[in-house]
Amino acid sequence: MARHLITSAIPYINGIKHLGNLIGSQLPADLYARYLRGRGHEVLFLCATDEHGTPAELAAAKAGKPVDEYCAEMWQVQADLADGFGLSFDHYGRSSSDQNRKLTQHFAGVLADNGLIEERSEAQMYSHADARFLPDRYIEGTCPNCAFEDARGDQCDNCGKLLDPVDLINPHSTISGSTDLEMRETKHLYLLQSKLKDDIDQWIDSQTGWPVLTTSIAKKWLHDGDGLQDRGITRDLSWGVPVKRGDDDWPGMEGKVFYVWFDAPIEYIACAQEWVDAGKGDDWARWWRTDKGADDVRYTQFMGKDNVPFHTLSFPATIIGSGEPWKRVDYLKSFNYLNYDGGQFSTSRGRGVFMDQALEILPADYWRWWLLSRAPETSDSEFTWDQFQTDCNKDLADVLGNFVSRVTKFCRSKFSEEVPAGGTFGEAETALIDDLQTRLAAYEAAMDNIEIRKAAAELRAMWAAGNEYLQAAAPWAVFKEDPDQAAAQIRLALNLIRIYAVLSAPFIPTAAGKLLSAMNTLDTDWPSDMKKAVVALKEGHPFSVPDNLFGKISDDQREEWAEKFAGRRD
Ligand SMILES: [Zn+2]
Repeated sequence: MARHLITSAIPYINGIKHLGNLIGSQLPADLYARYLRGRGHEVLFLCATDEHGTPAELAAAKAGKPVDEYCAEMWQVQADLADGFGLSFDHYGRSSSDQNRKLTQHFAGVLADNGLIEERSEAQMYSHADARFLPDRYIEGTCPNCAFEDARGDQCDNCGKLLDPVDLINPHSTISGSTDLEMRETKHLYLLQSKLKDDIDQWIDSQTGWPVLTTSIAKKWLHDGDGLQDRGITRDLSWGVPVKRGDDDWPGMEGKVFYVWFDAPIEYIACAQEWVDAGKGDDWARWWRTDKGADDVRYTQFMGKDNVPFHTLSFPATIIGSGEPWKRVDYLKSFNYLNYDGGQFSTSRGRGVFMDQALEILPADYWRWWLLSRAPETSDSEFTWDQFQTDCNKDLADVLGNFVSRVTKFCRSKFSEEVPAGGTFGEAETALIDDLQTRLAAYEAAMDNIEIRKAAAELRAMWAAGNEYLQAAAPWAVFKEDPDQAAAQIRLALNLIRIYAVLSAPFIPTAAGKLLSAMNTLDTDWPSDMKKAVVALKEGHPFSVPDNLFGKISDDQREEWAEKFAGRRD
């Protein structure tokens, strides 16, 4: 048994996420956590909401609410949706927690003690109309890199380039729309990442087996142009972690807060403290401090590709620069983008399916299965309603659902609602068991390597193998001549249902739970030895016929939904 710390990139607080966000970190992280728990490992799986920064302020203002109240409400909304999708976080924290505030101030203090933080005077955009300094996100203009007209002050949404507001062409205030801006002197703290460049470079080089997508992005940032840049870590805002040096005030920094990208990843640690303070765990340090037992923890992070720089460079800079024995990430799993029906998901235009809407039209398992089996791992992938309908109907209804339905109903009608006795396994059964054993090894290898599409394909193949066996063995025909032989076939098939439930639980936990409940068993032992697993449910063990596991998606539904989610969410 090993110990696994798993974090999903923390979703921003302002609004409900779409399915592209879900498959970009939370859902695959949940798959991995469930799989490792299923294998008997000790897992701490954490996620939280990312609550600071200007978008939260802007969204709260739009909603006409104080920002703390807005964040508390949206946290609940996101937590409920996470529950709805079966995301099995051990704790769903908040970056605005007291724990994160203290820890962020602590890190700033030790980084300053280590000579890695510098105060710099700089010119910043001041808006006369708004009578305030404008943080990056309150300024928009034309991207100097790609000429996109609505680039934000901190990043261009079109080309992804990180920007400074002064780089923008024709900048204006997003509060008032005013272009009456001037550059004024103000002081900010900078994290001297350039001093940590070699340490980070060596650390990345020492990692083996990271995905190319992850390392190539990190290396580009480390070496392109002038290399890793120092980063401003404070902002002129009221909502955020107040700038302090540990427990002490920081003269000259009054009224400023830490930049959201400084405090957000620290929440990964603070979230474990919140987990303990919420009474769910008793020791966060054995997960996070290598001097307190975390040296045997394997730490895996999940994120979309746009978040890779912050996880490979910024957060490691904070941790490495502290000189303290914090657990560092062992493996980063990053994802490309999921596109929607010939374009992009768009939060602002309401294009695509959002988490709340998804659960209104179908149970979570449909979405989980489709998104995971088509995860954008090696390249961007695309959601289309045709593909979604085809895959769900085929994999879930025709293959898995149909197998369960045929086996249980046949047994009930010809034998009883108990695992039937009689007969012995022959050649066909042995061949199936061998085939499943081989496929199980491939499934485990794919899951261990977090190759999600491959794992889904192996799982699907195991479902299909059961169906093919049933089709070839034809117990409904055998029963007429040799009821004992049919009983052996059905006994095997009923055991397969339990095995499928255990193996499928990481992908489709709700359906897996229904299958176990229909099989009237709490036995979730991993079927490492198929020969033993196929006889786990003994002769005479009672079961019940489950309700239809997966209804089919009709053409009418597909058309209705394609129309409904084409754009313009109210
Ligand atoms: Zn651009």
